[in-house]
Amino acid sequence: MPFTAYESPWMNDEARMFRHSVRQFVEKEFAPHQARWRERRGPDADAWVRAGRAGILLADVPEEFGGGGGSFAHEAVVLEELARAGVHFGCAIQSTVAHYILAYGTEEQKRRWLPRLARGERVAAIAMTEPGAGSDLQAIRAAARRDGEHYVINGSKTFITNASHADLVCLAVKTDPKLAGMRAISLVMVETRELAGYRVGRPLEKIGMHGQDTCEIFFDEARVPVANLLGGAEGRGFAQMMEQLPYERLQIGVGAVASAEQAVAITTRYVKERKAFGKPLFDLQNTRFKLAECMAQARIGRVFLDSCIVRLIAGELDEASTALAKYWLTETQCRIIDECVQLHGGYGYMSEYPIARMWADSRVQRIYAGSNEIMKELIAWSL
Ligand SMILES: Cc1cc2nc3c(=O)[nH]c(=O)nc-3n(C[C@H](O)[C@H](O)[C@H](O)COP(=O)(O)OP(=O)(O)OC[C@H]3O[C@@H](n4cnc5c(N)ncnc54)[C@H](O)[C@@H]3O)c2cc1C
Repeated sequence: MPFTAYESPWMNDEARMFRHSVRQFVEKEFAPHQARWRERRGPDADAWVRAGRAGILLADVPEEFGGGGGSFAHEAVVLEELARAGVHFGCAIQSTVAHYILAYGTEEQKRRWLPRLARGERVAAIAMTEPGAGSDLQAIRAAARRDGEHYVINGSKTFITNASHADLVCLAVKTDPKLAGMRAISLVMVETRELAGYRVGRPLEKIGMHGQDTCEIFFDEARVPVANLLGGAEGRGFAQMMEQLPYERLQIGVGAVASAEQAVAITTRYVKERKAFGKPLFDLQNTRFKLAECMAQARIGRVFLDSCIVRLIAGELDEASTALAKYWLTETQCRIIDECVQLHGGYGYMSEYPIARMWADSRVQRIYAGSNEIMKELIAWSL
C-alpha cells in the first residue's frame, strides 16, 4: 500500500460506505454554505434536520433510540469528513449530550430525547463553563433551588457551543450550595423552548470557528421539572462530567488529526503550483523538509489516535490516554498548521485561503473541553 494511502485499523466495508455517504452529504449540503454560515456566525437553522435525515447525527447511538447503531468509528468518520471539508458544525456536542443521556438517563428520558436529537428536531448544548469558572468546575455558581416538583434555576453560562439553536441544554448546576465542591453539582436537562426566564445572548465574536455559534445563556428563575435531573439523584454531576469528558476529548483528537492531515494535503498542492526563483516552492529543500516533518507528526498522531479509537470501541480506553491524545494531538495540529501557513507566504495570512482559516480555527482546540494544562495534570496524576 502506498505510504499516503494509510487506512485506520478500525475501518471496514460498512464504515467505508458510511464515509462515502457522509462525504457526499457534507460536500453537497454543507460545504457550499460555509461563507454564509461564517457571516451569520452559525449554521442555518434547518442544517440540523438535514443532517438528521442524512444519518450523520448520533452515529454511535443504538438504533433502538433512533441513532445510527454504529460505534465510535462512525462518529470518527463524521468528524473527519467535516474537518476535511473545513465545516464547523456542532454535531460532536449533539453526540456528547446523547451519551450523557444514554449513560445516566431513565428509559423515559432516553425515549423522549434521543430519537429527536438523532433526527435533528432537537439541538443539544452542554453548559458547564461560567464567566467566573472554567477549568475549576467546582467553583460554578449557577444554582437550582428545589420548589415542589420543579427546580428554579438562576445563573449564567458562557462560551456555549450551539446555543443559538439549542433547545435541550445539559446544564451543570449546584443543587445544594451548602455541600462542598463536587458533591453540590448536578446535571439537569433543560428544555428551553418557550421556557420563561431563559435567554440566549448574541453569538460571541471569536477569532475563528465563525461558522459555529458560541453564546452566553442566562437563567432567571427558570422552572425546570425535577424529573429532568440526570442520574436519579442529586450531587452526581461532577462525577458524570469526569466520566463523559474523555469521549468529548477523543472527538477533539479526531478533528485535530483530520485537520492536520488536510493542512498537509492543501499545502503540498500549493507549494507544487506556486513558483519562486523560477521553480515550484516544492523544489526548495526547506519546503520539502518542513512538509516531511509535518507529515511525520501527522502520521504519528494518526497512529496514536487510531490506537485510542480501537481501545475506546473495545471499552478499554483509560482517562490518561484520552488526556494525552487531546493534549498532544491538538498541540501537534497547531504546530503543523502554523508551519503550513508559513509555507503559503502572505497568502497564508489571507482569510480567503483555507489554511488561514484553519490556523484561526485550530487555536481553540488547546483551550476547550479541558485546557491542555489540565490535560497535563491528568497525565501527571496517572504517573
Ligand atoms: C469556542 C469555544 C467553545 C466552547 N464551548 C463550550 C461549551 O459548549 N460548553 C462549555 O461548558 N464550555 C465551552 N467552552 C469553554 C471552555 O471549555 C473553557 O474556556 C475552558 O475549559 C477553559 O476555561 P476558562 O476559559 O474559564 O479558562 P481558565 O480556567 O480561567 O484558565 C485560564 C488559563 O489558566 C490555566 N489553568 C487553569 N487552571 C489550571 C491549573 N490547575 N493548572 C495549570 N493551569 C491552569 C488554563 O489552562 C488556561 O491556560 C468553550 C470555549 C470556547 C473558546
